[in-house]
Amino acid sequence: MKEPVTNDEAGRLLALHRYCALDSVNEPNFDTITSLVQDLLGVPICAVSLIDSDEQRFKSIQGLDLTHTAREVAFCDHTIRSPGPMVVPDAEQDERFADSPLVTGEPHIRAYAGAPLTTPDGYNVGALCAIHRRRHDFTPGDVELLQRFAKVVVDQMELKTLAHQDFLTGALSRRAFTDAAVRALSQLRPMNRSATVAVLDVDHFKQINDAHGHPVGDKVLQAIGNCIGRELRSSDLFGRLGGEEFGILFYATTRAEAWRCAERIRRAVEAIDLPDVPRATVSIGLAHVDSEHSLEQALAEADTNLYLAKREGRNRSVDSGSGETSEAA
Ligand code: GH3
Ligand code: MG
Ligand code: MG
Repeated sequence: MKEPVTNDEAGRLLALHRYCALDSVNEPNFDTITSLVQDLLGVPICAVSLIDSDEQRFKSIQGLDLTHTAREVAFCDHTIRSPGPMVVPDAEQDERFADSPLVTGEPHIRAYAGAPLTTPDGYNVGALCAIHRRRHDFTPGDVELLQRFAKVVVDQMELKTLAHQDFLTGALSRRAFTDAAVRALSQLRPMNRSATVAVLDVDHFKQINDAHGHPVGDKVLQAIGNCIGRELRSSDLFGRLGGEEFGILFYATTRAEAWRCAERIRRAVEAIDLPDVPRATVSIGLAHVDSEHSLEQALAEADTNLYLAKREGRNRSVDSGSGETSEAA
């Protein structure tokens, strides 16, 4: 596992939303983990906490009837900013927490130990924490146990993400992509940041199927999906919208930067050179999303630009709003 990335809040939030978009109300596996930790550490309170932009949400909690708190009072927010676990033996003696309403009032947190939930690409999306209402020295063994269970929590979240991925291309399913994108965009709005969506479609794909057969067509789609996945940053979202059509959300990116990414992807697809995989190209339509646009509107505009890219000869990107049109090589 990589070292945690603690200086990329936009990437961290997107990593979180990739999981949250796939949320179900009940997470019985997490309840098993929190109640196990509660027993093993002998603590009255144990929780899986996710830290969103302005609140902490408990995915599972034992010993306390609470679903969320403000982010600024969350102990776990300190845990996710540190490279490893955080231990507070006595919150009343710790200037960071002594005045916290969670310490001075209900639930009267006094001792805390938290292990970050670190995603495979290094983002701390939350923490698994154990809490006492009296002063307490957690042992290194306690902390080690928390860290190991934190890893189990992340593995569970990853498995769920896998279930929402398209097996052939590694992209998110259409539903997971749009859900995650809507959430990601709602986070950008208060920050007054924008994003760009792209719709990609394989050129003359029917001819590839007709000439080489459907299984070879599948190999082409797989190679293109892998290629796009490699070109993206972990803060971008990538989904298969249907058949041979893909969507990308370039998150917290300027329009010019998204354009360069799209062109890089287009050229990378064109350059795929694998044995027994026929060459293929993609056309790309882009659209800007800001507080004035819904994802749906942006996807429709990207589709219109994709149509223009096809009409102008394929193997090119079009962002009519910015006047950008690439020349095919
Ligand atoms: P254009 O450049 O205008 O996009 O032409 P096209 O031939 O790519 O477009 P068209 O929509 O006519 O054909 C898309 C083809 O993609 C038709 C469909 O059978 C094929 N297709 C869709 N999903 C899959 C898949 O999962 N595997 C394979 N092998 N083919 C697929
Ligand atoms: Mg096509
Ligand atoms: Mg198509």
